[in-house]
Amino acid sequence: MTQRIVKSLPDQEKSLIARIRGRARRGTGLVVGIGDDCAILRVPAGHELLITTDLTLEKVHFRRDWHPPQVVGWRCLTRGLSDIAAMGGTPRAALLSLALDRRVPQSWVNQFLTGLLDAAEQFRIPLAGGDTAQSAGGIQADIVVVGSAPTGKAIRRSGARPGDGIYITGALGGAAAALGQLKKTIVRWKDYERHFHPEARIQVGQWLGRRGLASAMIDTSDGLSTDLEHVCEESGVGAMVESAAIPRAKVGRPANQVSLELAMHGGEDYELLFTSSGQVPSTIAGVPVTRIGQMTKKRGMVLIDATGISGKLVPKGWQHFVA
Ligand SMILES: [Mg+2]
Repeated sequence: MTQRIVKSLPDQEKSLIARIRGRARRGTGLVVGIGDDCAILRVPAGHELLITTDLTLEKVHFRRDWHPPQVVGWRCLTRGLSDIAAMGGTPRAALLSLALDRRVPQSWVNQFLTGLLDAAEQFRIPLAGGDTAQSAGGIQADIVVVGSAPTGKAIRRSGARPGDGIYITGALGGAAAALGQLKKTIVRWKDYERHFHPEARIQVGQWLGRRGLASAMIDTSDGLSTDLEHVCEESGVGAMVESAAIPRAKVGRPANQVSLELAMHGGEDYELLFTSSGQVPSTIAGVPVTRIGQMTKKRGMVLIDATGISGKLVPKGWQHFVA
């Protein structure tokens, strides 16, 4: 969104950028936002930058007939915020690149921005820049979130050690359960909050970061089995999980507990999965935390079922959905 480019853009795009600029939040760490060639951010002294990028693609991550535009905007930024949470960091700014089919109505874009800026407001971060273009078809959004953590204190995936407990925030499977329902019927947003309105666990991540309590951490975007495997691989250890301990989301109306299968393999819950050798409380920043197993010296992942019989825990990578 540079000044130079703005001058040569078609009127439609110019007005879109002007609308985004008019609505973008200004933050204390932002020296220069939308309107120059680059944003200028002030990084707190003694901090390192965290940078993450996430694509939100129509027909891959959302469908216009299933997801209201505010939901798409909210989830778009939350994906990036959740990655900052997973490092124990503080979000500082976001940048949005948006490619739109020229048939996408202006009202869709406005509501998408409302959802995205609501999430930005909640975590008090500015939208500091981005880009817009006409797409060859459909809607594609890329969100970049910049955050920071005290030097050397960001929580990585690689720090888990044998004997560390494995912990998860909230409950799992709720987001994936919504997709199953959407394929069959109209779904009420309120009955599937974790799918339509997930919240990045920023405060939990910061709490763990401040105390140095987590040895490794990741957010559950691909599903517990796959995300735990990432931690195992990066840390060079194995894991043992007790199936009965996995907190399963209650969704729908009347509310029902999701299947173990969904809780283990369903993606996009944006909970935090972390390991610790310390005393972990059962609630952090108002969010329930559950111990589900232990890291092991022996590589590979083992699942112990409710009767105590152990088998291999096979990661089933989250495929989002193919429309
Ligand atoms: Mg992540």
